[in-house]
Amino acid sequence: MDPLEAGRADLARAASELAERLPGALEPLARIAYNYAWSWQPDGGELFRAIDSDRFELVQQNPVRLLQEASNATLRRAAADDGLVARAHDLLARLDADRVRPADPSHGVDPARPICFLCAEYGVHVSLPVYSGGLGALAGDILKEASDLALPMVAVGLMYRRGYFRQRVDGAGWQHEYWLETDPERLPAALVTAPDGGPLTIELPIDEADVEARIWRVDVGRVPLYLLDADFGSNQPLQRWITARLYEGDADIRIAQYMLLGVGGVRALRALGIDPSVLHLNEGHAALAPVELALGAHGARNGEQLEELLEGARQRTVFTTHTPVPAGNDSYPADQISRALARLARASGVGEADLIRLGQTNAEDPLEPFGVTQAALRLSRAANAVSRRHGEVAREMWTELWPGRAVDEIPIGHVTNGVHVPTWLGPPMRALLDRHLGSGWLARAEDPDTWRAVAGIPDEELWGARREQRATLARFVVQKSTRDRLERTDSREYVLAASHGMDPDVLTLGFARRVATYKRLELLTREADWAQVLLAGERPAQLVLAGKAHPRDDEAKRSLQRLFGRKRAAAVAERVAFLDDYDLATGAELVRGCDVWLNLPRPPLEASGTSGMKSAANGGLQLSVLDGWWAEAYADGNGWGISGEIDSDHEAQDERDAAALYRLLTDEVLPAFYDRDEQGIPRRWVAMMKASLMAHGPRFSATRMVCDYVRGPYRATTSAPPAGEQSAIG
Ligand SMILES: *Cc1c(COP(=O)(O)O)cnc(C)c1O
Repeated sequence: MDPLEAGRADLARAASELAERLPGALEPLARIAYNYAWSWQPDGGELFRAIDSDRFELVQQNPVRLLQEASNATLRRAAADDGLVARAHDLLARLDADRVRPADPSHGVDPARPICFLCAEYGVHVSLPVYSGGLGALAGDILKEASDLALPMVAVGLMYRRGYFRQRVDGAGWQHEYWLETDPERLPAALVTAPDGGPLTIELPIDEADVEARIWRVDVGRVPLYLLDADFGSNQPLQRWITARLYEGDADIRIAQYMLLGVGGVRALRALGIDPSVLHLNEGHAALAPVELALGAHGARNGEQLEELLEGARQRTVFTTHTPVPAGNDSYPADQISRALARLARASGVGEADLIRLGQTNAEDPLEPFGVTQAALRLSRAANAVSRRHGEVAREMWTELWPGRAVDEIPIGHVTNGVHVPTWLGPPMRALLDRHLGSGWLARAEDPDTWRAVAGIPDEELWGARREQRATLARFVVQKSTRDRLERTDSREYVLAASHGMDPDVLTLGFARRVATYKRLELLTREADWAQVLLAGERPAQLVLAGKAHPRDDEAKRSLQRLFGRKRAAAVAERVAFLDDYDLATGAELVRGCDVWLNLPRPPLEASGTSGMKSAANGGLQLSVLDGWWAEAYADGNGWGISGEIDSDHEAQDERDAAALYRLLTDEVLPAFYDRDEQGIPRRWVAMMKASLMAHGPRFSATRMVCDYVRGPYRATTSAPPAGEQSAIG
């Protein structure tokens, strides 16, 4: 039997039920709606938008809701549109053909034993709000790319009913958080049923409670994403909250989430009949998965057998770390974890102390907190960071786990992140590259030869696509910031300033990322005359900003507030827009439209950074600190770099970096953008765009990234286990 069968019939049934409510001619749309593959086809979004574009936005681009909620008149009108119906048939035929393609044997993964990807968040699409930011967007991109590459993969995560917080910034710049509930019945998702017709459930003991979880299936092309859900009647209210919010602040709930994801995730695979060849832990949240893989249904008779079983699981586990900030690596007091795990451990015949030690750097210290990263490093045969520089940082950070080894012998490698190109490309750039890079070029996105054809694109065409995407962004910014400002009850004059200021032909700078102190948003405004010179000069720039601060990070929130403190200056009101509630949809608009993408982290705290890669694929140029991916990507002529040196004097570093940023913007970026020939084309700028596309297109695509995982960690080779494992399990 196809190991990815579980839940397929349930999704098909949901699609049929939706189809029954539609005029016959629209039936294919119901089937398209129940697999997110449409979202990275150039004509997918257009098709649903053609039915009712306002409603499509109103329902967060969720096609299931669109078809459920559109009026009969709207549906009848769409059914009578022969062109639309023909396009729907054509798209469905293409998607079906892709789905039945055999797995690509060159990856060396047996389709009967797929890779299982585990992550706390997935950014597949804006309508499935179970992500917070970069980690989720990356996970979504990996699933889509695995689908495109016909790599056998399944994914496991949690169905958070309230997802991550939504952001509203008030007129004074203070961030407020709120949560919206998602009804999974209205998502392109279906509960996996058991043979008796009821929902398939798994159970696990967490602390005193026996927690049950149901399993939703969401199809991401060929890759099924199984999301565990504890929010239903069998569980007590406290346990139902386990799958309420992403990165819940309460530590007991967070630990329960990690147990559900790791232990529950592997139990779910078993219940679904899936025997993965590899467990890929994407970040440490699922670190208990290999423990459950080891102990399985039978547990261990004694310490010796436990050791053997854990080693067996280790041979099937690979781990990706994403966090170069020590405090960002979750750890919990040993006794708190003990309490949560005690019944589970006992049922498996092991002491909870044996499990706790897996997450401690020094197993001799019973009071040391349990760290999920340490546990994941101990329990995986291969570990990697997400950029070359992050690899160096991670080896340094975790040397203590391998005492006696030199830093460069610590077995943590790197697979630099990449982005799923068809997801992030704007339609004009997609059409342009489709015309010039040859048919099937996306399948060859990893090959530098594919991108060499960019050199032959006429400057006018590349510049035309750039202008079109910038103009689309300018319209989006005017729409959104007008509403955001009205919501903030700003003065009418201030509300209207954005529509006066945002200009489709003005150099557009983007800075959209988590508002965290180390991302140094304030470097932008540090020079006293920045607004005058950058925004109000004869050759002006405009600046689009977005990003959420962690709800408990008051320092970051205050930095946002200080930024808003400057908003009254006329140039700022017109040429700077802060867009509330950064998400995948806003992110896509920004990376497509901005001419220059800024990133100003305090080195070495940026693990990779993927938004810049999305911008680069769209012909955006990077101006960034040489940290994360940019440290390995930057070369003279393909963007701009600011020193990535580490300096413990933060004040002096900020001063220097702000000056460097300012100098680059005024001396290089603005002149290159506005220096036009008689046809109005900035030749130097276009040459840089081409250099950037050719350099970054192949290297920072998800195609290259997923192929790197296939060639590296997914191949069964193993590294020496960290020290302490003997004592941890002996
Ligand atoms: C790509 C993406 C990110 C990651 O961006 P960074 O460069 O790592 O800051 C975060 N949020 C969203 C919505 C994204 O699409």
